[in-house]
Amino acid sequence: MSIEASATFTVMEPETMRRMFTGELGPDRDFFIYSRHFNPTVLNLGRQMAALEGTEAAYCTASGMAAISSVMLQLCSSGGHVVASATLYGVTHFLPRICNITTTFVDITDHEAVKNAIVQGRTNVLFFESMSNPTLTVANIPELSKLAHDKGAMVVVDNTFSPMVLSPARLGADIVVHSISKFISGGADVIAAAVCGPASLLMDLHQGALMLLGPTMNAKVAFELSERIPHLGLRMMEHCRRALEYATKMKKLGVRVVYPGLEDHPQHHLLKSMANKGYGFGGLLCVDMESEEKANRPMHHLQNSSQFGLIAVSLGYYETLMSCSGSSTSSELNSEEKALAGILPGLVRMSIGYTGTLEQKWSQFERAISRMEVDSTLFSKN
Ligand SMILES: *Cc1c(COP(=O)(O)O)cnc(C)c1O
Repeated sequence: MSIEASATFTVMEPETMRRMFTGELGPDRDFFIYSRHFNPTVLNLGRQMAALEGTEAAYCTASGMAAISSVMLQLCSSGGHVVASATLYGVTHFLPRICNITTTFVDITDHEAVKNAIVQGRTNVLFFESMSNPTLTVANIPELSKLAHDKGAMVVVDNTFSPMVLSPARLGADIVVHSISKFISGGADVIAAAVCGPASLLMDLHQGALMLLGPTMNAKVAFELSERIPHLGLRMMEHCRRALEYATKMKKLGVRVVYPGLEDHPQHHLLKSMANKGYGFGGLLCVDMESEEKANRPMHHLQNSSQFGLIAVSLGYYETLMSCSGSSTSSELNSEEKALAGILPGLVRMSIGYTGTLEQKWSQFERAISRMEVDSTLFSKN
């Protein structure tokens, strides 16, 4: 693939311009007008993302939030209604406040509540994360999709936490959004995203929000990212393998660990029934340390004494990243919203990396733990 670093594209005959603007000649036949709409390199990455999610098309954007806001503004007009999971990525709460689109937040595992919240003829979208941030709740995508479709609502799923592991569009969702900034990039060096779904929604030159709001990705960025998609599967397998291994070992040590790969996770069997075989159960795990103060000490040791991981937000990096969700990525929620979303004050989210051997990294974890006196809050009494 070449890098088509062009803002605009020339045509040989003036007549071609008219035919492009009527939609008769489009990117599917290699006709390009202007890179805010379509660019060959960005479209190439879009095709990879569509193949990844099993959708007809995909459109790449400059950030996850640009993808989500454009999709919402495409599917809802003023006066519209969204039913959304209470565990949604924090910043998503902003949207209803700036335009006349109301949102009802629900517990996505409570299907009766979801059903009641969707109003036939008024609700445009049911929006949730396949695996939620930061609590790692797994959504029943087939049942939720059916529920929404029965009442005429579109289903939008944020699959940022579980690329390869889950394929929401294959399970009934209409649109899948990905923040590419996380696992798909893998380098924690780029902010980017994609919207995967039907071409009629994503590729509408004249009416589409993605064309008109201008969230598009730069061609140079798209080229770099397209080189990383082929090894996403290998990377996810290793993120997931290590997360399961650490979660199992932490549990044995008496650490209160939340991981969908463990039998005791409430949606373990659901995830197993939906997941693509061979990738595992996701690259994130959470440790409940009761309070922010109690969480800060182990995090300090894990980074500064033993180099097990780094204290940072974000996820999907090749090094392990750790953050206390309540005081970082979900800090704009009030305490009531946090309680509804199940975000405990001492919840530490870990995105498991894959540098070094598993044995080396685990010994770094153990070293950090042994540097602290045995803390009865970190270890349950047994
Ligand atoms: C990071 C993230 C986003 C936002 O993506 P950006 O690329 O940072 O704008 C949305 N959803 C989830 C689940 C995320 O983790």
